[in-house]
Amino acid sequence: MGMKYEYVIVGAGIAGLTMAERIANVLNKKVLVIEKRNHIGGNIFDSYNEDGILIHNYGPHIFHTNDKGVYDYLSQFTAWRDFWHRVLTCVDGNMIPMPITLETINQLYNTNFTGEEMEAFLKERAEDIPEVKTSKDVVLSKAGEEIYQKFFENYTKKQWGLDPALIDTAVISRIPVRFNRDTRYFADKYQGMPKHGYTKMCEAMVANPNIKLLLNTDYKEVIDDIEYDKLIYTGPTDYFYDYKYGKMAYRSLDFVFETYDEEEYQPAPVVNYPNDYDYTRITEFKKLTGQKHAKTTIMKEFPKSEGEPYYPYPTKEYKEQFAKYREEMDKETKVFFLGRLAEYRYYNIDAVVRSALDLFERISK
Ligand code: FAD
Ligand code: UDP
Repeated sequence: MGMKYEYVIVGAGIAGLTMAERIANVLNKKVLVIEKRNHIGGNIFDSYNEDGILIHNYGPHIFHTNDKGVYDYLSQFTAWRDFWHRVLTCVDGNMIPMPITLETINQLYNTNFTGEEMEAFLKERAEDIPEVKTSKDVVLSKAGEEIYQKFFENYTKKQWGLDPALIDTAVISRIPVRFNRDTRYFADKYQGMPKHGYTKMCEAMVANPNIKLLLNTDYKEVIDDIEYDKLIYTGPTDYFYDYKYGKMAYRSLDFVFETYDEEEYQPAPVVNYPNDYDYTRITEFKKLTGQKHAKTTIMKEFPKSEGEPYYPYPTKEYKEQFAKYREEMDKETKVFFLGRLAEYRYYNIDAVVRSALDLFERISK
């Protein structure tokens, strides 16, 4: 066949699309993007369902960042619906704010503490753990056993299929403890939803004739027929190396959608269910997107170990396994690995975009 591209990108998620956009618009070079799904956007893809409600096909995505460069970059391709994400968690049959804030503690214990009183209250319960090594240690050392059990232990077991004592500190550290009434899920300076959705934003990123998209294609089906100087790979690294150091485990999810003939389903965009049911959380999309509609669509997330790879496992064992792949990756001269799957990193959108922008700077020099 003999196609030639200076740049080839595997994967049309936000990592691959950011690279494609930069190469096409800044370098004015042709770039081929190969994507095995039938759409662009990767896991941030959203679409209208049969009732005309905008849903996130791969789980609720809220953009948030402190990185002004990333915010400004994406703002070239979308306007924003400024929005602060809020989450309630269902504990002992009551829906109370998550993360752990003054509101959470006062509602849980029916108290009227001030921030200082809350701090003293948790300090009394917190365990003295000299070296905080796991996600379990993180909560026990900040808030003690009862908070751990009510809010974290079972949610984490459901989400990961692992005891929090086996999981890296970084995972539960995503959830802060605040001694004030700030009940926002994220405290980042820039937060919001792309005004017309993530897919529209992604379409604007690739609206350059320099970018060729090859959908419905696993890169291995075609790569031997393509000549390239640089390959940017955003798929799973174990697959790239034909599993030579074994299969990397990823946590997967079943997304179950339900549409109700009512305007509203629940009091917050996301409600967590740490201790009840087999799903971890329910998302009501209209509460994220601001869409007005007589019906409403919700989604339940059921974690599982097999299926589409979504989350890299945050354990010592898998990090050690990945380190073997990392050694191979570091030896490559014309292949660059980027994104959640390729780098086996629990990345948010903003961090992926940041990595892509930095990689572009490096390879375009
Ligand atoms: P992906 O989006 O996974 O893109 C990789 C692409 O490569 C995919 O389209 C895949 O089909 C393609 N591909 C893989 N293998 C091949 C192959 N062999 N050939 C061709 N193509 C291939 N982040 C936030 O900032 N805020 C949130 O609220 C948030 N919520 C999330 C909720 C869930 C349930 C999940 C799973 C993630 C969430 N994230 C969130 C993280 C966010 O989804 C990721 O950071 C981001 O989408 C990663 O982009 P990526 O391009 O690295 O990977
Ligand atoms: N977590 C928990 N209880 C909750 C929310 C989160 O135990 O109510 C833990 C769980 O281990 C989860 C991690 O904190 O995997 C990070 O939560 P986050 O909401 O950031 O997860 P994501 O949206 O990335 O799935």
